[in-house]
Amino acid sequence: MVPHKFSLQSLSTFALPAFAKNLLHLRQPEQLSEIDFDRLGAFYILGGGSNSIFLEDYVGTVIQPDFKGIEINERAESWQLHVAAGENWHQLVCFCLEKNMPGLENLALIPGNCGAAPIQNIGAYGVELADFCHYVDWFDIESAQIKRLQSSDCGFGYRDSNFKRMLKGKGIIVAIGLTLPKQWQPQLSYPGLRELEQPTPKQVFDTVVAIRQSKLPDPDDIPNVGSFFKNPVVDQQCFLALKADYQSMPAFQQADGTVKLAAGWLIDQCGLKGTQIGGAAVHHRQALVLTNIEQSSGDDLITLAKHVQTRVKEKFAVELTPEVRLIGADGETSLDKLG
Ligand SMILES: Cc1cc2nc3c(=O)[nH]c(=O)nc-3n(C[C@H](O)[C@H](O)[C@H](O)COP(=O)(O)OP(=O)(O)OC[C@H]3O[C@@H](n4cnc5c(N)ncnc54)[C@H](O)[C@@H]3O)c2cc1C
Repeated sequence: MVPHKFSLQSLSTFALPAFAKNLLHLRQPEQLSEIDFDRLGAFYILGGGSNSIFLEDYVGTVIQPDFKGIEINERAESWQLHVAAGENWHQLVCFCLEKNMPGLENLALIPGNCGAAPIQNIGAYGVELADFCHYVDWFDIESAQIKRLQSSDCGFGYRDSNFKRMLKGKGIIVAIGLTLPKQWQPQLSYPGLRELEQPTPKQVFDTVVAIRQSKLPDPDDIPNVGSFFKNPVVDQQCFLALKADYQSMPAFQQADGTVKLAAGWLIDQCGLKGTQIGGAAVHHRQALVLTNIEQSSGDDLITLAKHVQTRVKEKFAVELTPEVRLIGADGETSLDKLG
């Protein structure tokens, strides 16, 4: 048995005690073509670790693409940004505002790296990465070449993309390209922002930051990965049946006729805020956030997550699926395979 020697505890914002067999911290994209992926065995690409939970020791190699650099190309009607994968997302949002290039302010304070942003098409307050993503530069492992994928090739959806599906495990994002139109339109459709009248981009940014700070626990204080579950999307029939029983239920109509429900509200209605199993707990203010409050183990977290899933299913007949990536000994796994 090979000893697991690289601690991952500080590399994931859920901070479970886990080790990896090997860790490769890369500073330049060129280093990717030096890796012999055929001989490497299992590997996991890690950015800021704010959406990845290592439930136990990992037998493979963790690869951290820590490439840096932001290039700006000004056009008549837009700013074109080329951003390396290792740049921090929130710092990019701040940088753009400082340079008077608005657009990303609704996505302020989302933790993690720019290279991870396309994976689940990060989104908040009515805006998502796909609204600005022009291309993704992708190191294709099979050909050992960097390929440019246009946004239309990325299959972006709600917390979803082709990187989670057909491209999974086949490459590494080295940079993203964003287009920020000069004609700025504030996106104020979400509660908390609707009240703003003709705001500046900075006012939208400040409001988003203030809302998020009041609602979400800071992972530096209480380890967590933000929303543990995705907001479930249901068909009209299911929505109308639920709405008949729960008139105050928040719901967001989708363009395709489906309806997105608020997972946090469903969990809260089950009376689960503050529920603790071992060292893992449902946050006392934000039910969608599971936290590591007292040296949680992977088992504590899985038991808690399954408990939440079961209670919501029993009460609403709605299935919650994790938004977070769960990594077991051999690699990525899913809640239904665990426990
Ligand atoms: C407090 C808090 C609030 C949050 N709020 C939001 C929110 O409002 N909206 C939202 O969408 N998300 C939110 N998240 C989730 C998280 O911030 C995002 O998913 C973010 O994009 C993860 O970035 P990361 O670098 O930490 O990713 P990691 O956890 O390191 O990785 C996430 C996934 O991306 C893959 N990956 C990472 N980098 C690369 C790369 N270069 N190439 C290929 N694959 C890669 C990993 O293998 C993994 O599958 C929140 C998290 C926290 C802790």
